[in-house]
Amino acid sequence: MVEKKEPSARVEKKEKPAPPITAKPKRKSLIICIDPGHQQKADLSTEKIGPRSNLQKPKVTGGTRGITTGTPEYKLTLKASMILGEMLKEKGFKVVYTRTTNDVNVSNKERAEMANRNKAALFIRLHADGSTDRNVRGFSILTPSSKNSYTSTIYKDSLKASQLIVDEVKKARDVQVNGISLRDDLSGTNWSQVPAILIEMGFMTNPIEDKNLSDPTYLTHLMEDVSRGIADFTSNKMKSAR
Ligand SMILES: [Zn+2]
Repeated sequence: MVEKKEPSARVEKKEKPAPPITAKPKRKSLIICIDPGHQQKADLSTEKIGPRSNLQKPKVTGGTRGITTGTPEYKLTLKASMILGEMLKEKGFKVVYTRTTNDVNVSNKERAEMANRNKAALFIRLHADGSTDRNVRGFSILTPSSKNSYTSTIYKDSLKASQLIVDEVKKARDVQVNGISLRDDLSGTNWSQVPAILIEMGFMTNPIEDKNLSDPTYLTHLMEDVSRGIADFTSNKMKSAR
């Protein structure tokens, strides 16, 4: 909301009309860091799952693959990220990607550090799910729990962002929404100092969702819902900061 100017009591007739208030919404300068999950070649060497942790996890795993289309997850996540990024730019955000090509080697920790360096308003990680059961399907968001010691400063905002995005996606009639899962084992989230969420767009091991996600119209609609949720989150955050 832009503050309204108090009407002045006496206006000189000769006075020029006040210039229009051109203050732009604050979110114009906000940065969203988008992380297209995985990469062409997995890097199974390990890194700590969070600051001061003794636990190690592979730097970047291989991801899943479309059961019908054969599309690897890393290709789908990059495609979706580019669509989402363009939408966010149109909404006035600045967008930073952790990768823009498939042939890279960037660990999950390094991806989080990119979001941190850019002081992103939100670190959004795009993934697709896989299961040995081809009937399992649905959209979900993974966010840290209140018990996660690595993410105590970003827990509330991450959950808020997850809720607002889930609310938007639920409005779409053609998407099954499984909701929010609390996950504390994700290096990319644990290393993040800015609100961090991981979106599982659907199950590539389910023939219907694999087909849906390969359809540019479906994917675009899904990313529209996600971008609306992101906009809700940032405007919500600005209101509570005042
Ligand atoms: Zn994944």
